[in-house]
Amino acid sequence: MKTIFTVKELREALKPVRSQTVGFVPTMGYLHEGHLSLVKRAKETADVVVMSIFVNPIQFSPNEDLSHYPRDLERDSLLASKAGVDFLFVPTVEEMYPAGSKTMVTVKEITESLCGASRPGHFDGVATVVTKLFNMVQPDYAFFGMKDAQQVAVIQQMTKDLNIPVEIIPCEIVREEDGLALSSRNVYLSEEERRQALVLSHSLQEAKAAFSRGEKDAAVLRRIIENTISETLLADIDYIEVRSYPALEEIQTLTGDVLIALAVRFGRTRLIDNIILTASQEEALCSVR
Ligand code: AMP
Repeated sequence: MKTIFTVKELREALKPVRSQTVGFVPTMGYLHEGHLSLVKRAKETADVVVMSIFVNPIQFSPNEDLSHYPRDLERDSLLASKAGVDFLFVPTVEEMYPAGSKTMVTVKEITESLCGASRPGHFDGVATVVTKLFNMVQPDYAFFGMKDAQQVAVIQQMTKDLNIPVEIIPCEIVREEDGLALSSRNVYLSEEERRQALVLSHSLQEAKAAFSRGEKDAAVLRRIIENTISETLLADIDYIEVRSYPALEEIQTLTGDVLIALAVRFGRTRLIDNIILTASQEEALCSVR
């Protein structure tokens, strides 16, 4: 694996492999099995795999955890190399945003709800950095985790709208054995918070079970989750939302692909999780009648 720090070096390094397909895995580092599952998928799909590690300051609000965000390049390099990454791109903030940068990318509407509502400006930061990374790496495929389902919808919309020639490949959420979705932020959790954080995946599973039994009312499913999480002492709900996916429109009755997404704080740590349910159009019509 070759580690690269500048855009110029990256372009030089990728020149000889341009006749092959390039798969790209953008991350903020502090790698875990979730990130490595994207690499695995990238290796199955493309000839050459590029991973980036960049903690993107413009997607953090001033009151968020930018300065504390966990970082360990030595450990990440080892994990990336073992997983089969060919090129590890680790730009500095100055390399990414040279003095005088004036351009931002904004995706409208689908960025206004869920994490976009709780984290104003977050998706402008994400869309801008991903556009820049796409221009630098020029990948054929890019791999994103469904852990950040809204982010996947935003990136898909953006690449379509801007005619960026890359195929976005959404990848499944990787979880601990007990159900907690892997996240670099899980290291912030105390033992007790970690134990109580299981309520996220458990409540989503409860909603899924109710859906399997025939419940198609979005408000009812939302309330099942809210009731369960509210009973958890250390959990402070940011949002619980049931929306169409990927359009992220509010819905009353489940039809087609539906995202149930939530963000919950445990102390100073904000965790997100979600599930996608697919309701057949026919059943939804029946339940409306
Ligand atoms: P991050 O480093 O948190 O910005 O994440 C980089 C990429 O890894 C994003 O596409 C995330 O959605 C994905 N990712 C993070 N956690 C998981 C997980 N538990 N399962 C699958 N993908 C994940």
